[in-house]
Amino acid sequence: MVNKQITVTSPLLPNLDEFNELLKEIWASKWITNNGQFHRQLEKALCEYLKVPYISLFTNGTLPLLTALQALRITGEVITTPYSFVATTHSIWWNGCKPVFVDIEEETCGIDPDKIEAAITPKTTAIMPVHCYGKPVKMKRIQEIADKYGLKVIYDAAHAFGVEVDGESVLKAGDMSTLSFHATKVYNTLEGGALVCHDEKTKQRIDYLKNFGFAGETEVVAPGINSKVDEVRCAYGWLNLKQVDQAIANRQKVAQKYREALKDVSGIRFFEDMPGVRHNYSYFPIFINAAEYGMTRDELYFKMKEDNVLGRRYFYPLISTFSTYRGLSSASPRNLPVATKMANEVICLPMHHELSEADMERIINEVVTK
Ligand SMILES: *Cc1c(COP(=O)(O)O)cnc(C)c1O
Repeated sequence: MVNKQITVTSPLLPNLDEFNELLKEIWASKWITNNGQFHRQLEKALCEYLKVPYISLFTNGTLPLLTALQALRITGEVITTPYSFVATTHSIWWNGCKPVFVDIEEETCGIDPDKIEAAITPKTTAIMPVHCYGKPVKMKRIQEIADKYGLKVIYDAAHAFGVEVDGESVLKAGDMSTLSFHATKVYNTLEGGALVCHDEKTKQRIDYLKNFGFAGETEVVAPGINSKVDEVRCAYGWLNLKQVDQAIANRQKVAQKYREALKDVSGIRFFEDMPGVRHNYSYFPIFINAAEYGMTRDELYFKMKEDNVLGRRYFYPLISTFSTYRGLSSASPRNLPVATKMANEVICLPMHHELSEADMERIINEVVTK
């Protein structure tokens, strides 16, 4: 008998009847896009939930990265991490800038602040760190370096929805932060994303940029793009926001169960909660030391797959190994020993809000029995 497939993620979906009611409102209003009622309502609700003053919605999590670099007029070289989703580096490339890879630290899988200064050249204008797996990077240290060299900081916070340090949102750090509301993330609007900034003037400029640069009926102030979000997605997102706390609480229980079950398995490492941090449990990566565990990461990954338990090798391969980027001198594995090691050891176990006890037992069993 073949076991039912356990997927890595499962999207948070609004109640269909409630969604249907909102669709009726949209149909009645005949206002389906361009900063409609649900769009304004969702931006406001997200500001409150995320504890930030300014947020602009986007059609996905990649366009806010592109737009942040535009809004801050970034040129030259941008320091970033190879241990992320390709969109992080692509956004730098699409802006005609050169990505410069800096290694990560084991503690967070985020950029290692101790290695940033050595990568700075006269052409460096910005740093783009990632709160990988929603684990906050060392924001204070990064800001000190940015201030010292006059650099902008744009955080790819695609994984960090709702993450707080000492009661303060991580989205408040740096010059801007971006979010992704893709179906696989903790919070989704089908596809979607957002850009967080810290003052009204910047929010205004971002809103121009995501609407072709229009600043009025007859005035275009910048070569903007189209990243406007329609009313259907905003209504969907508004309903999902009401249940995201429950989803995060469910995910936390899964993380606790995994930690308890795997703590004595030799050759397996995983992250504990960080003191003072409100985590969102967006991923549950485990790292396999093949010599101690008695099996390589890939052997375990494919064994799980055969048994219909899907893991994900996030983030393998490193962005710096793809053909587009491997020619850069900073892409050399010698420059990125920690990222290279983590990428070769990682499996993200299934993690979502509706994993059953039986599912978790099967997943744990895959890792514990070799
Ligand atoms: C998901 C993700 C993105 C891109 O978001 P999309 O909504 O898929 O465009 C960017 N960066 C990171 C780190 C991501 O995980």
